Amino acid sequence: MPTENIKRNGASRSWRDNLIDIEPYVAGEQKRSPRLVKLNTNESPFPPSPLVSKAIEGFDAEILARYPDPNAKGLVRTIAGREGLPEEMVFVGNGSDEVIAFAFKAFFNSGLPVLFPDLTYSFYPVWCRLHGIPYEQVPLNSDFRIGQEGYARGNGGIVIPNPNAPTGIAEGAEFFGRLLRANTDSVVIVDEAYYGFGAETILPLTRKYDNLFVARTLSKAGSLAGLRLGMGFGSPPLIAALNAVKDSFNSYTVGSFTQCAGAAALSDQAYYDDAAAKIIGTRERFTAAMRGLGFSVLDSSANFVFVTHPQLGAMELYEWLKARDILVRWFASPAKASSHLRITIGLDSEMDALLAAIEEYMQGKEI
Ligand code: PMP
Repeated sequence: MPTENIKRNGASRSWRDNLIDIEPYVAGEQKRSPRLVKLNTNESPFPPSPLVSKAIEGFDAEILARYPDPNAKGLVRTIAGREGLPEEMVFVGNGSDEVIAFAFKAFFNSGLPVLFPDLTYSFYPVWCRLHGIPYEQVPLNSDFRIGQEGYARGNGGIVIPNPNAPTGIAEGAEFFGRLLRANTDSVVIVDEAYYGFGAETILPLTRKYDNLFVARTLSKAGSLAGLRLGMGFGSPPLIAALNAVKDSFNSYTVGSFTQCAGAAALSDQAYYDDAAAKIIGTRERFTAAMRGLGFSVLDSSANFVFVTHPQLGAMELYEWLKARDILVRWFASPAKASSHLRITIGLDSEMDALLAAIEEYMQGKEI
């Protein structure tokens, strides 16, 4: 737009009127205290692979004087090799939040509403508002599962986490195959942030459906939430569009240090399989114990569980636990979430401490 027009149109407005007016995503609290039992943001209770420590110790700080490889070619090659996909089908970013935010910008430009569940990752509506993308939220079925029916209509794109968050419920490849066969005119994003805890991956379907994009992260099963490394997989035109968005925003999204430590983590699958097996074991024990206390617990394929109790107020229990240095996640909205708590699976000892606290709370209420 010519400068003259900008001046004329903006003449009577204060700079304050020109600031963005957006309701942002609210991240889970990152309280630090040695006594804290932190079960609110779905991090892994285990440290990263020892190979990550080794890579960090051997990292030459002199490298940081130069910009990183903007396309993280070495890391992309490692990831592509691991997944048996060509490099043109792999994208990396500063956490999967960034990868998905770029994907919304790159893929959802039809003007039609993007569809996602009405109970899901609450960053999706924020990215839509940030990018000016219309959206509609499709109600989950009464059993908290995702139905196909609500997505069988014209749309500007579909976004589904698998497993879904905060329910933890996963659908199989057959479900997504059916969804993709019915939806060929827009891009389908499947957010596999919680892959690695028992859900089936649909990554192989990226070879078959060139409108499928799968996002992953090292923040959960990879024990590297602090490193900020996310990745995405899709057909070459999808990855080219993502790279065009990245290079219109910030060419150097993944630092040299992250590229080095991330590659080390990706070379130690055995370590992470072992950690995931422990988390799954703890999840199943914790689920059974909570059901024993009268909680309803959805069947989770993630590293968290979504729970509710017919006689207990979720917010009150959340506050009571927080006052005792046990942090879980309570969502004030949407209404169907506010009666539940989302609890990250931590160490056995942390889950035992939580169970003991919940029992004490229930005794106080004479339940
Ligand atoms: N998708 C979902 C469903 C998530 O819960 C999260 C973590 N809050 C992310 C993506 C983003 O994770 P990260 O940016 O740490 O990769």
